[in-house]
Formats: sequence, structure tokens, C-alpha cells
Amino acid sequence: MIHCVYHPCYSQLVLPQNHGFPITKYQHLYQQLQRHPQQHKLRWHQPDAAPLAQIERCHHPEYLHQFLGNRIAAAPLKRMGFPWSEALVTRTLTSVGGTVLTTELALEQGIALHLSGGYHHAHYDFGSGYCVFNDLVIAAEVALTRPAIHKVVIFDLDVHQGDGTAALCQSRPEIISCSVHCDSNFPSRKQRSDFDFGLARGCQDDDYLQSVSEALALVTRLHQPDLLIYDAGVDVHHQDRLGHLSISNRGLRRREQLVLSYCLNNNLPVACVIGGGYDRDPEALTHRHRQLFDAALELL
Ligand SMILES: [Zn+2]
Repeated sequence: MIHCVYHPCYSQLVLPQNHGFPITKYQHLYQQLQRHPQQHKLRWHQPDAAPLAQIERCHHPEYLHQFLGNRIAAAPLKRMGFPWSEALVTRTLTSVGGTVLTTELALEQGIALHLSGGYHHAHYDFGSGYCVFNDLVIAAEVALTRPAIHKVVIFDLDVHQGDGTAALCQSRPEIISCSVHCDSNFPSRKQRSDFDFGLARGCQDDDYLQSVSEALALVTRLHQPDLLIYDAGVDVHHQDRLGHLSISNRGLRRREQLVLSYCLNNNLPVACVIGGGYDRDPEALTHRHRQLFDAALELL
């Protein structure tokens, strides 16, 4: 049985016609998984909005309340990447709640998958690059309140560096940030993660998977985490609009198999979020995100 977390509000956001964010992908992925030949092995969970106290563990209270009350100025709102709406507030808080729930399920069940999450550009007091609050660090913080959890690794394979995560983790020695990304890509000003693997543009499957494998082995052996939060962004794909790496569909599948099998073989609970992925073709994009679920279904 694989535990999956989803809420319909993830895709319920009206955006301007030319907006670059593929808001429908969450719903498409959910619908495709409902029709999956092995859908009987998927157990669905619907999250609630994260309590504000959880968000305040990682974000400036003034930023949180400015966001809730539509008081963010035009320039920082533009940097965040979404026009403000009540639906954005609901979606944002529920996505954070979803990643927290996914980590709780992973700690109980060994693995859990979230059909949202990976808002790794969100910083302490501002949002950036379609990210409002850093669900990864918030969920790690909540997990660390359990007596048996001493260290959490955030393993970020989205093509963009997890700069918000890196900055937030600099004062959190119990949360280890590891980012494998395309070096010459957004954000132009990188932050220092605990482990950064900056790859050259055009990097292909074999070199990429070698780096992922080395990064995963290094960070887990050095830090012996009790939980791994995995950002499985698919914007590493060669056809992604915002990527610049050259990873094939097969390479993506191998990556998900590699990460999940490593965690299962090492009894390391793994909470997965789908992260970034930008393609105007919803079918193609859904197929890329689906590799994570197919790899999990194949292993369990
Ligand atoms: Zn990305």
C-alpha cells in the first residue's frame, strides 16, 4: 500500500491566461493515478491547512500575516509569482499541510507521496519563484518535534537550486539541505546548502544519475538521517521550459527508482513531493511526474 496525499484545491486557482505556472498538473496527475492499473495499491489522504503556528516556525510572522491579509507590496508579490487571491491562500496553506501530513505518513509507513509541495524558493520573509512558504523546512521542523527524530535531510533534485531551503537551514543543524541542480539557472544568486551539486547545462542521464547517487550516499552516510524529504522536481527533463538539463523519460524513471530503492533498502523513511515541472502539454508533464508513483508501485 502506498500512501498518497492530495487536495482538489491544488489546481483550483485562476491565473491570468499567459501565466507560466502549470496549475492544472496536480488535478491531471490525480486523475491519471485514479485510472492507474494498480490504483488499488494507492491509499489517499486529504490534508487540512497547516496551522499558522507551524508556518511561524520558519517564516517571519509579519510576512505570514501580510500574505494572509493581501498586504504584500507589488514588487515582492511579483517576485513570488502569483497574483494574490483567497484561493491562493487556501492552496498555499493546504499544500504546506499536505507536506507535513506526507512526512507523518512516511514516518509511520516508510514512504508517502504528496501530489504537491517542493516550494524551495520560499525564504524567511519573502516568497520567490512560485513559492510562498517553504513546506520542506516546515515539515522537517514538525517532524523534529518527535522524540525519535533527530536529523532530517531535504534531498532536492528539482533543476533549480533550493535557495530558500538552503538559507533557512543555515541556522538549523538538525536539518541538512542537499541540492542537485543546474548551475546556470534560476536563482542567479545561489545560497549555500549543506551540499550543493551544481551541474552543467545539457547534462545527460548517466552523468546526472551518477551525481544523484553520489549525493544521496554522501549525505545519508555522513548524517544518518531519521527521515529524508525528497523533492522530485521533473524540470530536469530535456523538454522542460525552465530546465536546461537533458534528462530523458527513462532517466527520470531510473532516478526515482534509485532514490526510492536506496531509502527502502536502508530503512530510511522517505516523504516525496512532486516539485517543479513546466510544460504547456499537460499529458507530457503528467507523464513525467507519474514516474515517481510508478517507481514506488514497482518497489512495493
Ligand atoms: Zn524548479
